[in-house]
Amino acid sequence: MSTRAVALMSGGLDSVLAIKLLQDQGIQVLALNFVSCFFACAGSQKRHIPTITAREEGFEIRVLKLGMDYMRLLENPPHGRGREMNPCVDCHTFMLQKAKKIMTEIGAALVITGEVLGQRPLSQHLQALRLIEKESGLSGRLLRPLSAQLLKPTIPEDEGLVDRSRLLAIQGRSRKNQFALAEKFKLRTFSAPAGGCLLTDPVISRRLRDLFSRLPDYDMIDARLLSLGRHFRLHPQLKAIVGRNQEENERLSRLADNHQQLELRDHSGPLMLVRGQPNQQELQVLGRLLRFYAKKVTAKEVVVCRIQAGRTDEFPAGDPLDNQQVEDIRI
Ligand code: SF4
Repeated sequence: MSTRAVALMSGGLDSVLAIKLLQDQGIQVLALNFVSCFFACAGSQKRHIPTITAREEGFEIRVLKLGMDYMRLLENPPHGRGREMNPCVDCHTFMLQKAKKIMTEIGAALVITGEVLGQRPLSQHLQALRLIEKESGLSGRLLRPLSAQLLKPTIPEDEGLVDRSRLLAIQGRSRKNQFALAEKFKLRTFSAPAGGCLLTDPVISRRLRDLFSRLPDYDMIDARLLSLGRHFRLHPQLKAIVGRNQEENERLSRLADNHQQLELRDHSGPLMLVRGQPNQQELQVLGRLLRFYAKKVTAKEVVVCRIQAGRTDEFPAGDPLDNQQVEDIRI
C-alpha cells in the first residue's frame, strides 16, 4: 500500500508545491482546506480555488469549516498575536491538531504544510516551526517539504517512506524558487500569496475586538457579519451595520437573524442591521445614519421602515448625520 499524507492546503502556491513534491514520489495526499469567515484566500463558493487545483492535480481534498472552537481560540490565543488579531502560531497549531486527527483516522504516515523557513516573521522562523510541531502533537510526523533539508529529518524520512533527497531547502521571503517550481510542475491554478487573511486587517481586527468585549455570547452569525458592511456602535448594547452596495444588502438580509432591519421606505438605499434595542432617541440617530449613506436620495421627508420579529413600524429618517458624527460612532 502506498504511503499516505495529510496536507494543510490554503490554496496558495507554497501549499500546492508541498503537495506536488510528495505526489511526485508516489505518495497519496489528502488535502485539508480550512475555511472561516476570515480567510478570503480560498476563493468564492462558485470558484473555490483549492477544489479546482485538487481536481486539476489529481489529489483528494476536504473542505473544513472553522466554527466556534476557532473563535474561542481567537479570543485568547496562548501564543499571542501578530500585528493585528492574527494568532498565527496558535492558528497553525489548531489546524494541525485537526490534521493529526484525520491522519490517524485514515492511517496516513505524516502531515505536510507549505511553510517555508524564514518566510513569515511570526509563524515561520525556526523556533516557531518547532513550537507548532510540538504543540500540535505531531513531533516527528510534520514535514515541510519546501524547507525539509534545512530541518531535522522526520520519522517517515528516517523510515524511507519519504525520500529526503527529493525534498527542498528553500528559505526566506523570495518567491523565485517557488515560481520556478510552479513552471516545472505546470501548475495552472493557485491563489495569490498571503494577504487573504482578514485577521491581519486593522479594520476587521477592531470589529473583532469590539465583538469580544461587547458581546460575549456572540454566535457564528455575528462573526460572519464582521466582514460585511460598515460597523457602528452607539453604546455597549447597541450596534448597527450598514450595507455598502446591493450585494452586501442582500447578504446582510440573509444573515439578519436576531437583528432588526432598517431601510428607507419608497427609496432605494442601504440596509441596516441593528443588534440591541434602540430607544426613541437612538432610533433617530440610526435613521439619520441611514440617511447619511443614502446619498442619492434628495427628498426632504424620508421615512425609515423597521422590521423586527416579523413586525414593521415606521418613523421619519431626519437629517443626515454629519461626517464627524458618523466617525464618532464608527467601530
Ligand atoms: S495569517 Fe490568518 S490564516 Fe494564516 S496562520 Fe495567521 S491567523 Fe491563521
